[in-house]
Amino acid sequence: MNYIIIGNGVAGVTVARSLIQKAPPGSKVLQFTTEPYGYYSRPKLPQFLGDKTQSPEDLMIYTKDWYNESKIDFHPNEKIHSINRKEKKVVSEKGEYDYDKLLLAQGASCACPPIPGLELEHAYTLRTLADAITIRNQLELSQSAVIIGGGLLGIENAIACAKHGLKTTIIEFFPHMLPRQLDPEGSKIFTELLAKYGVGIITSAQVKEILGDSVVESIQLKDGRLIPADIVMTCTGIKPRIALAKKAGLDVNRGVVVNDYLETSDPNIFAVGDMAEHEGRVYGIIPPTTEQSRVVVENLISPRSREYHGSRMSTTLKVADLFLTSIGYDANQADYQFIKYINDESNEYMKIFHEDDKIKAIILLGTKKGIPQLRKMFEEPLSHNQKKLEELFPGIA
Ligand SMILES: Cc1cc2nc3c(=O)[nH]c(=O)nc-3n(C[C@H](O)[C@H](O)[C@H](O)COP(=O)(O)OP(=O)(O)OC[C@H]3O[C@@H](n4cnc5c(N)ncnc54)[C@H](O)[C@@H]3O)c2cc1C
Repeated sequence: MNYIIIGNGVAGVTVARSLIQKAPPGSKVLQFTTEPYGYYSRPKLPQFLGDKTQSPEDLMIYTKDWYNESKIDFHPNEKIHSINRKEKKVVSEKGEYDYDKLLLAQGASCACPPIPGLELEHAYTLRTLADAITIRNQLELSQSAVIIGGGLLGIENAIACAKHGLKTTIIEFFPHMLPRQLDPEGSKIFTELLAKYGVGIITSAQVKEILGDSVVESIQLKDGRLIPADIVMTCTGIKPRIALAKKAGLDVNRGVVVNDYLETSDPNIFAVGDMAEHEGRVYGIIPPTTEQSRVVVENLISPRSREYHGSRMSTTLKVADLFLTSIGYDANQADYQFIKYINDESNEYMKIFHEDDKIKAIILLGTKKGIPQLRKMFEEPLSHNQKKLEELFPGIA
């Protein structure tokens, strides 16, 4: 059996690693990436950006030797530009390769709003290690930065810029920070905690234009405000890489549409991770990507043997001393009933949103206390957990 995997992010690597162990003897696994590296951790890129002592090697999880030793036929720096579904081949500039089963794990790029000036020098997005190296070099030469988008990535990147001593401002479209992770009350506390990192925040604001001759000089907001900046980073969500699938005639929407077996509209081609759309959802984070990858391996080996029924969103901010975990929350849940715990001295805040004795979402701020126990509580009625909650968060009500 010939398996081809397009992509070497967490989806591609999780599947490749499992296939070489589980696939029938004699199977071949070919893996392609447009990047020059083995597998590295994308979530560690913001930290790399803020810490000039880190080298690219510090981020590597699998070097090229690992692929050789694992008998994965690894093709770095090789972009697949078309899929011939009739002949079951993928095509790059370097050659054509036959597949029996093909996995698309191409991830996403940044979804930038149509802001004039994004093409200027020193206007960046962060997706790859190569991006991070370029941006970090430029941070060393800069005095001020504007981050467009106050989501998790925007905040992590802003703190990285502040660590280099840059005057840093986040521009957020919504009236409060992290609307997808925090309710308004939690967001207010979070914004106060963020202040100690010296990052400025402007909410309810939209960028009109990035100004400069050939290089970024300032940011003009729609309300007329002008913010000087040497660097702009846009962190406004993701755009699944669907072009290759679309060209091959597969069903696409926002992402490449997959069914419960993670098959695309061609049963020999599967898609997982940031590029896949299941039941109308594109997740864009690692936990659903690994869940999908585990399921798809089974179906690649034995057709339609395992179903995927969606994942619960769970995000964590990775900034030292600024703990935030949000599980299952989306802005629609702000109206649900809740119980909460606040400790003003330790700056801890915890809120559980519930409906019909079922936990719908949990927000935890300023502490990592009880995360594994809290995750398990989703599986049981809230009333069964009152005692445990009281032990963890005395006075919760
Ligand atoms: C800076 C940053 C920080 C993040 N932090 C977190 C976090 O803290 N927690 C979290 O859960 N998620 C985080 N994410 C999101 C997480 O990294 C993604 O959900 C995850 O990487 C998705 O994995 P993937 O394998 O689907 O795609 P990707 O990791 O994007 O990998 C896509 C792969 O496909 C390859 N490719 C694309 N097109 C082609 C082609 N035509 N031919 C050959 N190869 C191709 C690319 O070269 C790449 O190897 C972060 C993302 C970024 C960018």
